[in-house]
Amino acid sequence: MDGATSGARVSLSTVMADVSESNPSRATSRRISERVSAIEESATLAVSAKAAALRAQGEHVIGFGAGEPDFATPAHIVAAAEAACGNPTFHRYTANAGLPDLRQAIADKTRRDSGLGVEASQVLVTNGGKQAIYQACQTLLDPGDEVIIPAPYWVTYPEAVKLADGVPVVVDTDVDSGFLASVEQLEAARTPRTRMLIFVSPSNPTGAVYPPEAVAEIGRWALEHGIWVLTDEIYEHLVYGAVPFSSMPVEVPELAEQCVVVNAVSKTYAMTGWRVGWMIGPPDVVKAASNLQSHLSSNVDNVAQAAALAALTGPQECVAEMREAFDRRRRLIHGLLSAVDGVRCAEPEGAFYAFPSLSGLLGRPLAGRTASTSLELAEIFLDEAKVAVVPGEAFGAPACARFTYALGDDDITEGIGRIAALVEGS
Ligand code: PLP
Repeated sequence: MDGATSGARVSLSTVMADVSESNPSRATSRRISERVSAIEESATLAVSAKAAALRAQGEHVIGFGAGEPDFATPAHIVAAAEAACGNPTFHRYTANAGLPDLRQAIADKTRRDSGLGVEASQVLVTNGGKQAIYQACQTLLDPGDEVIIPAPYWVTYPEAVKLADGVPVVVDTDVDSGFLASVEQLEAARTPRTRMLIFVSPSNPTGAVYPPEAVAEIGRWALEHGIWVLTDEIYEHLVYGAVPFSSMPVEVPELAEQCVVVNAVSKTYAMTGWRVGWMIGPPDVVKAASNLQSHLSSNVDNVAQAAALAALTGPQECVAEMREAFDRRRRLIHGLLSAVDGVRCAEPEGAFYAFPSLSGLLGRPLAGRTASTSLELAEIFLDEAKVAVVPGEAFGAPACARFTYALGDDDITEGIGRIAALVEGS
């Protein structure tokens, strides 16, 4: 960088500091809206950036951070996308709510997989499950509406609520209860302003799966109190233990009128990069959310929609194969983590995350350093063992950390082995 360029940078930052802090008359000319400046920066960023820097220096960092399958998208799905590229219809805008064939396939798949009967007109195809969550919040919430979110929660939920001027009301769960929220806890958090519950099972980040009777109990509670449920079923196929996946509007059919189901091809078919998800809900809600989408992003990429159609209607063996690999890795990581002194890990029953409590390692010297938070602990793991994990702060669970087990068996063994050696050697 030459002197002139760096000089220009200094003066730009001086101007910015002047606007935001020292010059009261200009401080009123706000640069970033209150709405967007209220979005919290992910607590994972610091650790991810550091892991990337260490890798760039040639270090062999084992990453337990990624929230996505490590498999390639199955070949028949990629082939469908390749064919779609040559279809001139797909070079143009298509229906905002999704390709008609895909909406029908999603309705059929929902009946097949969860048992929920819906019409294609109740399906809105979105850019991943994330956009479905954002649009559901925008469509259903008014300023000040409270949304109950059990913690540990997936990072996007509170932010999507805040972006709709809603108020997240966090209900804490812990490793002792298997990270399952009870109706009593939800009821204690309910106020006259409660508008919605965000529910996810299997859960990111905990891997917990609610038994069908608990899903039904929560559904009946929501129905009784006129509370909307946004139920996130993105990990529906990734269940391994004795507890099966169950869909809330199937357990409590009367709830369908006040329920939005969110799902996507992202996790089930190793398609996180393709960006295809959907929301299913009552016709008026789906119509309103579709109107919003027509001004926000329009139709989802047609090639990706064609790939999603192939995923949902094609052979399903690939799903079983990936689930088998995750199940093996789940048992491996749970066994290894449980053997580390100071770590307490509930056996994950779904998704591809282990979420141990690390409270036994806080306040204890590790390689001459002492962590008082899981964020600091994650830094020590990275610096001293070259292992990257996501600290629990990101999920509203400060003494825990998330370990993805969507990575090779050898890497899992090596990574947890390094942590065990760090703890034992300290
Ligand atoms: N819901 C949960 C619980 C997730 O973990 C994720 C992704 O990590 C999503 C939704 C969003 O998935 P997508 O990639 O389809 O936007």
